[in-house]
Order: sequence, then C-alpha cells, then structure tokens
Amino acid sequence: MPTAPAVPPAPGHAELGELAAGIDGELVALRRTLHRHPELAGQERRTAALVAGRLRAAGLTVTTGVGGHGVVAVLDRAGEGPTVAYRADMDAVPADEEPAEGFSSRVPGAAHLCGHDLHVAIGVGIARVLARVRERLGGRVVFVFQPAEETLAGARAMIEDGVLDRTRPREIHALHCGPLPVGAFAVMPGFGHPGLDRFTIDVPGPGAEAGGRRLRAMVDGLSTTTPPRTPEDRARLVEDLTTPDGPLARFVLAGSSLAPAPGGVRVSAWLRAWPDSRYSGIRDAVRRAVESAPGARVTFAGEPFPSMVCSPELSEAAAAHLREAYGPDAVTVLHASFPFAGEDFGLFLRRVPGAMYFLGVADPASGVNGAPHAPDFVADERAIRVGVQAMAGFLSSRLAAQP
Ligand SMILES: [Zn+2]
Repeated sequence: MPTAPAVPPAPGHAELGELAAGIDGELVALRRTLHRHPELAGQERRTAALVAGRLRAAGLTVTTGVGGHGVVAVLDRAGEGPTVAYRADMDAVPADEEPAEGFSSRVPGAAHLCGHDLHVAIGVGIARVLARVRERLGGRVVFVFQPAEETLAGARAMIEDGVLDRTRPREIHALHCGPLPVGAFAVMPGFGHPGLDRFTIDVPGPGAEAGGRRLRAMVDGLSTTTPPRTPEDRARLVEDLTTPDGPLARFVLAGSSLAPAPGGVRVSAWLRAWPDSRYSGIRDAVRRAVESAPGARVTFAGEPFPSMVCSPELSEAAAAHLREAYGPDAVTVLHASFPFAGEDFGLFLRRVPGAMYFLGVADPASGVNGAPHAPDFVADERAIRVGVQAMAGFLSSRLAAQP
C-alpha cells in the first residue's frame, strides 16, 4: 500500500531558539534602523524595500507593492500541506518621540510608538528561521507585511488587491507588542479590539455654542469606561480584562471636540463600542439627542469600522503552544477587549480564521514600560528573539495541525 511521503520531524523549541539567537543581532539592528527612520501610513517605501530585500535573500518568493507598500513573501516547501499566514504591520505613529534612546526617531512628527518596528523585525526573523528548516515544514507559510495600519487603510487595501485570494491561507496569525514582561504573552479568545464610529454634529444659529456644548456632553456621557491614568487604574484594567463577563464585557468609549464652523459650531466625535451590535442603538440615541437641538444635523462617516475578533480555537491553540514552550504561567487569557485601540487586522479575521497575540515587551525592573502609543513607549529588545522563536514554533505546529 503506498504511503504518503514522510515529512521529517518538525523543528523543536530549542532548535528554533538557537536559530533565532543566531540572527538576533541583525534583527535588533534592523529594528533600530526602522526606529530611527519611521515612515507614516502610506509612506512605508523604505521599510518595505528593507523587508523585501531580507526575505528575498532568505529564499522566499516576494511580491512588493501589494495594496500600497505591502509586501507578501511565500515560503514554500514545494510539497503538500496547508497554507498558514502571518501578518506584521509596518507604519509609524504621527507623533514625536520623547527622546530616550540613541536610536530615537530622526523624523519630526513620526515615531514607532506602537512597536511596529519590532513587529517587522520579528516577522523577518520568523521567515528567516523557518526558511532554514523549510524541508521539515508541513506546508506553506505566507508572510503579509502590511502598510497603513494606523489609518485603518492598509488591511483593506491588501485584501482588495487580492492577497487572500491569491494565497488562500487556511488561517492567519499576528503578534502585537504589549505591556507585559518579556517572556509573557496574552491571548484574547473571542475578543480583540473594538471598531470605530465617527460623526460630526453641526449646530447653527445664535445658540450654537451652548447647544454644541450640550451635545458634546451627551457624546462624552456615552462612555462606560475611561482610559487608565494612574497605576491603580492600570491594575484595575488588568483585573477587568481578565474577568469573564466582567465590566469590560460590553463597553463604550467616546470622545469629542468642539470648533467654530461657518454659521455655528461643529462637534467632531469618535466612539468605540463592544460588541459591534451596539453601534446601531448608539447611533439612534445620538440622532434623538441631535433632533432636540434646533437646526442641528449629524453626519456619520460611513459604516462603523468593524472590531477585531480573535478565533477562540486558534487563541487556545496558541496558548497551549506557548505554555508548553515557556511554562504554564507564561500566558494570560483576556476575557474582554482593550477599549482604547483599534486594529485593522480585524478585516483579515473577517475573511480567514485567525488571532492576534500580545507579546510582552516590558521590563518593569528597569522601567521599560512596553505600553504602545504612550509618548514615552520603550520596548525591551529581548522580546524580538522571544517573538521569533515563539511564532516560528507555533506556525510550524499549525502546519502539522489537522484543519
Ligand atoms: Zn499597533
């Protein structure tokens, strides 16, 4: 009876760790280069060229210019097996960095305050490590380097450019830097990041100022939670995020500003809610409040941007792999979504099962906060090696997993 050609045993955690250690210096150097020269959403020309060059040199099949500056790299064992995808985002945040390190941003108004420079270095590292063991992989890995995450435009552009139709991954995975200690991870089975709704309210006439202030207070009053400001707030946030059916199982976070406009004032508002099904009720409440202000008019900016919802099964699979590799306490399970950020990785997850995982980049002992989007965001670069080893192992385990 004919038997299927045997795939040699998948690479183990220790072997992947050695391979990751062997290229760690180069990955840290790449991260610092990107950190020094951050590129804003839609402008990732140099970052994309660096990524493409490294991956071509590692023997992957690379396509550039996908949905803007997106890069797609395929690692094919030239055999049978499933396709799994890994996504890393490349753009910087439109902000100035508080200069803290020798490789701080040299570009005014742009800084890698969301850790996407680490995401790129880790993605390149995973590809290079897996390329070294490609004959022992049970299928194909597609690396998706995405532009324009901060403007929520890049995932849509890459999908519309056919990245998923051409590569047809069975599942897709991603890491994001998080304020956990290096070596720690978090998974979000069934949760993730909220979407976003935006609208403006125009208030005309002599009472516009007072009417605008009232409507602004109404918008702000929709919030059921506030961003943490003190260490006590942060401790409570962690507790809320890890409590099943806790206070963050459902939430609204809203913000607004008021500015003079021709003939009156304009309230500009944004709003994040969980789950997405809440947006239509919230819009009704906003419309009712606006109707009560004479002459006021609300304009919503299209449909709300959808939330990112991680697959429960794949989140559990990642947690199991990471516990096995790093110990039973290495993984925190979040039972709610962070109310304070969005993620357009959610658009990939609407097309393909997948999940995002938090990679700890903090070092509390030395004051490295690892808090994305903080103006003084600092990441511990030891996390690069951890991320490479962890995801190289997890992706290779997914190639061996039954669908
Ligand atoms: Zn980010």
